[in-house]
Amino acid sequence: MSAEENKKKFRSDPDGSAVFGHGFADKISEYDWDATIALVEQATEADVLRVLTKAERNRTLLTPEDFAVLISEAADTHLEKMALLSRHFTQERFGKTISLYIPMYVSNACTNKCVYCGFNHDNPFTRTTLTMDQIEQECEAIKTLGPFENILIVSGEYPSLCGVEYMEKVLRTVRPHFHNMTLEIQPLKAEEYYRLTQSGLNGVVCFQETYHREAYKQYHPRGMKSHYDWRLNGYDRMGDAGVHKIGLGVLLGLEDWRTDTVMMARHLRYLQKKYWRSRYSVNFPRMRPSESGYQPKTIISDRQLLRLMLAFRLFDHDIDISMSTRETPFYRDNILTLGVSSMSAGSRTDPGGYATEPDSLEQFEVSDERSPEDVARAIRNAGYEPVWKDWDSIFD
Ligand code: SF4
Repeated sequence: MSAEENKKKFRSDPDGSAVFGHGFADKISEYDWDATIALVEQATEADVLRVLTKAERNRTLLTPEDFAVLISEAADTHLEKMALLSRHFTQERFGKTISLYIPMYVSNACTNKCVYCGFNHDNPFTRTTLTMDQIEQECEAIKTLGPFENILIVSGEYPSLCGVEYMEKVLRTVRPHFHNMTLEIQPLKAEEYYRLTQSGLNGVVCFQETYHREAYKQYHPRGMKSHYDWRLNGYDRMGDAGVHKIGLGVLLGLEDWRTDTVMMARHLRYLQKKYWRSRYSVNFPRMRPSESGYQPKTIISDRQLLRLMLAFRLFDHDIDISMSTRETPFYRDNILTLGVSSMSAGSRTDPGGYATEPDSLEQFEVSDERSPEDVARAIRNAGYEPVWKDWDSIFD
């Protein structure tokens, strides 16, 4: 749809009701949670060999059911083969490059009460929402860390403080400093996403956290985030609004990671068919036992996380797979040639953390505290090229 057609569509649909009343929330009821677990648990070595042969010989994409086989324990003895294929497909699509980005938290105010997050509404600490002057200073401070052009702007979910008007100002303030701006904020209406694309928004990342409808309610008991369908259909609203890049993710540690990621694979295929003009990214944040005092229900080991990442690359050759500074330098250096296409570096997870509010509360502790230049050096040492800029704002 052209920009003009988009404008017309949202003008005649000012509250977006025609475009956010539908989406993957209707479709997901076709998939049974327990049957999905069974798909993974009952996979045999013969299934794994069949899927690997399909991945190697056949250029067509794997199905979510194939993906389920590759994340099973039965696939573990074939990890090396998976790694070779994953590296091959990644190099074929992205070359020997890793794109670098940096997050900038602009607010830790939040009306939600996610039980696993230190920013949740009931946590009594002084909240920080950056002014435009502070954001300007943060941008300048980030530029002294490295020649970043990709920025991920993150905020808690507090509509009256960090709604679309605020984000519009943020994007206009950040735009002169960075070519590629992605938001990780509360889900918006389609017409609001569209409005932000007019201020230079390039991508949106949203974590569904878990696809398990009943468990989702327990993790998110209050605020807009408690509305499972609203969040899940948010990706359709991004697609409807023509957001260039849409990022998906679940929080590994809430529910069974295997089932959640198979659901995510189904969700991705659904979105790709429907919103084929958008690009997609995926991220695998795993919750650690010590974080915020909240104990994850399930633990995903280093080896399982690797298997998951490799399986996702075999499932989709084009998707941007990102690995954040939640993971240790050792882990990130070891997997960087195996399927990852982007990494964060130099991250602070507190608003104002780069320059203006060094004591504000962090959302989570970063495990890779190396400077961006050190991360770039590690990438070069692996024979890869760190890419600071892969988009120009003239494309917007
Ligand atoms: S996870 Fe996000 S929405 Fe939930 S409490 Fe934390 S900042 Fe708010």
